[in-house]
Amino acid sequence: MKKADRFPGAASFYVNMQNPSQHRAETAAKIAALPQNYKVCEGCDSIVGKATSICPNCHSFRFDSAPETVVSQAVLLGNREQRSVTAEDLG
Ligand SMILES: [Zn+2]
Repeated sequence: MKKADRFPGAASFYVNMQNPSQHRAETAAKIAALPQNYKVCEGCDSIVGKATSICPNCHSFRFDSAPETVVSQAVLLGNREQRSVTAEDLG
């Protein structure tokens, strides 16, 4: 199996969530709007596309696909990013 070809969308999304940028908050908002398209890794709390079978961050195969879990995690990540961006801007 070629990992890079299987879930290219999920892979790029993972990069967006890990990079400290304002896009992260925008991405979080998109996830919260369509939680059924995503799931949360139970190993590291990363949000990945629902088609992902192995977490690109911690290689876990356990995910929580409950929409309310995805939404709450997306909001958490979005809020966290807003705070870190503000702190970096001040520094
Ligand atoms: Zn993980």
